[in-house]
Amino acid sequence: MTIAIVGAGLGGLALARVLHVNGIDSVVYERETSRDARGQGGMLDIHSGQRALREAGLIERFFEIARGEGQDMRLLQPDGTLLLQEDTPEDAPLDRPEVDRADLRNLLLDSLPAGVVRWGRAFESAGDGVLRLADGSSAPYDLLVGADGAHSRVRALLTDARPEHIGQNVVEVGIPDVDRTHPGLATMVGRGNYWVLGDGMSLAAQRNGDGRMRIGVSFYHTGEDWFATSAIPFDDPAAARARLIELLSGWDSRFTALIEACDDTVVPRSIFTLPIGLTWASKPDVTLVGDAAHLMPPVGEGANMALLDGALLGLALAARPGDFPAAIEEYEREMFDRTGAAARMSADMQELLMSPDAAQKLLAFFQPG
Ligand SMILES: Cc1cc2nc3c(=O)[nH]c(=O)nc-3n(C[C@H](O)[C@H](O)[C@H](O)COP(=O)(O)OP(=O)(O)OC[C@H]3O[C@@H](n4cnc5c(N)ncnc54)[C@H](O)[C@@H]3O)c2cc1C
Repeated sequence: MTIAIVGAGLGGLALARVLHVNGIDSVVYERETSRDARGQGGMLDIHSGQRALREAGLIERFFEIARGEGQDMRLLQPDGTLLLQEDTPEDAPLDRPEVDRADLRNLLLDSLPAGVVRWGRAFESAGDGVLRLADGSSAPYDLLVGADGAHSRVRALLTDARPEHIGQNVVEVGIPDVDRTHPGLATMVGRGNYWVLGDGMSLAAQRNGDGRMRIGVSFYHTGEDWFATSAIPFDDPAAARARLIELLSGWDSRFTALIEACDDTVVPRSIFTLPIGLTWASKPDVTLVGDAAHLMPPVGEGANMALLDGALLGLALAARPGDFPAAIEEYEREMFDRTGAAARMSADMQELLMSPDAAQKLLAFFQPG
């Protein structure tokens, strides 16, 4: 049986790895031309997804690249008031450690035999057991798994659902080598998550594995076309930083100092989600894992669910090597329940972040009673 996986993100690679440790071959078709063809994003906190890494035989190596101190948290108001500071003790269990997405992806990539991932092979369409790629080539499959992320093309084989904008637009900026270049700002942000929640706006800062501090400034209740009307000149980084500072008017100067220290990488990111509790009628030869199946607000569940999807689909296929359609149905039943619950929880957290008084509400969330 030929298993074709589209997308070498966390979900697709977890699936390929769990199949491999269970003696089943697969091929992963990835659009990007190499593992570092583009930046691989920031930090992820991995909690329930640790089970997937255990099934993949990679949990020990995961703990070597995970950062326990990344669990630290500071919550502030725009006027500079520190509402909450939680520092992780040295001997704290690694329940929700942070890991650099690139490091985690490399761990999975390095655990696969050479040639499993076919780089520079973008999926275009599929049908009747034949996969068609953008370079004009084609390949046969018995089972096709869409692991092709938020804007999946494989998804259309199963459902008409499309991601919808949720009224959040993020401008991503960053400070390279922050400990050396801006030690004062590095100390202010600390080792983990640094959140400033204002009315309709937030700033989140976090140090990455490579020493870069990534900063995301979010604008809530903004439409899909907001970047076009925001007057942020993305082609002129200095002017873009100046405009961001203008948009943060009234915020404490410590926060605008973070923006002033950023380099010239200024990236717009619009946030989309799929409908909560999306399901489809099972098909015998195609399914989805990860964001392709259940794109959620970015509040810490998506990567964990993608890892779990990949591992659990791999285990289901390994348990029923002669009956892939039954394995897919079993996988989808569990996945719809689990990820529906995670999507609901994520939507609640997103609503809290977008609400007036978000800082106080988040404080109450972390310190109930
Ligand atoms: C470059 C990048 C950076 C990210 N940074 C962050 C971050 O900083 N914080 C965060 O919370 N989340 C980030 N994410 C999203 C996060 O990784 C996912 O939400 C989560 O891990 C779910 O994983 P996934 O495997 O479903 O999808 P993804 O991790 O998005 O992987 C999907 C893969 O499919 C490939 N692909 C897409 N279309 C095709 C096609 N037609 N043919 C072949 N391959 C295709 C993509 O190139 C990608 O490698 C990032 C994703 C990417 C791709």
